[in-house]
Amino acid sequence: MPELPEVEFAAGRLRDAAVGRTILTAEALHAAIGRSLTPEACARMEGRRIAAVARRAKIQLITLDDGQVLEVHFRMTGDWSVGRTGEAPPAFERARLTCTDGTRISLTDSRAFAVLRLHAPGALILPPLGPEPLSEAFTMPEFLTALGRRRGPIKPALLDQKLVAGVGNIYAAESLWVAQIHPTRAAASLSRIRAARLRDAIREVLRTAPVGRYFATEDSASAGEEAWRVYGREGQPCLRCGRGITRITQAGRSTFYCGGCQR
Ligand SMILES: [Zn+2]
Repeated sequence: MPELPEVEFAAGRLRDAAVGRTILTAEALHAAIGRSLTPEACARMEGRRIAAVARRAKIQLITLDDGQVLEVHFRMTGDWSVGRTGEAPPAFERARLTCTDGTRISLTDSRAFAVLRLHAPGALILPPLGPEPLSEAFTMPEFLTALGRRRGPIKPALLDQKLVAGVGNIYAAESLWVAQIHPTRAAASLSRIRAARLRDAIREVLRTAPVGRYFATEDSASAGEEAWRVYGREGQPCLRCGRGITRITQAGRSTFYCGGCQR
């Protein structure tokens, strides 16, 4: 599943390719994608200029010159591929924006779980999201207050997006390992010092993320395994203390941690 650094990277590439261009045609090329990107939505995009591309958490927002916003969720395997009309289309092309200058922007998505929803001007309402982890808005006082309000363990709390936006399953595990915090520890029980360690760890892990290891998904962990310090390393020795890494399931998601040095 693309995590925040990958989505940020993808949004940057899309911005470079798309902003200022005018959409000649929009098409959904797969039935599952067509459920959200309907023929009516495609028709409403045609002739519009792409004014801006933004990202909030793992949501990409493509604003058109009339104020409509295309909200894009990559979900499991989505990505952008940019080319020219007339070139062979990329593998797993599921949606396509053809621009008037011949630029072709394709959504590739082997699983076809991506969601693309067009909103009328002013109609987009994002779910409640915490601060962006790499922004100035991710402050200690706010983080401590938010932690104090949480019931339940820290790992699922990190995934919930209200504490901090955009931290996914892999980076939650990695951050907790770096901060030496046990994933089942109650979020509200973190001391100020440990919370500060966790905040620093989240920022460090996201900043140094191996973008491009993209398809280290939960079911095909192989590609990214060596890149992670704890994620996907069940049974292997902890890189810090040597004890075997444990895998448990929390809120339906795999959690990897070291029982030796994460408390
Ligand atoms: Zn350890």
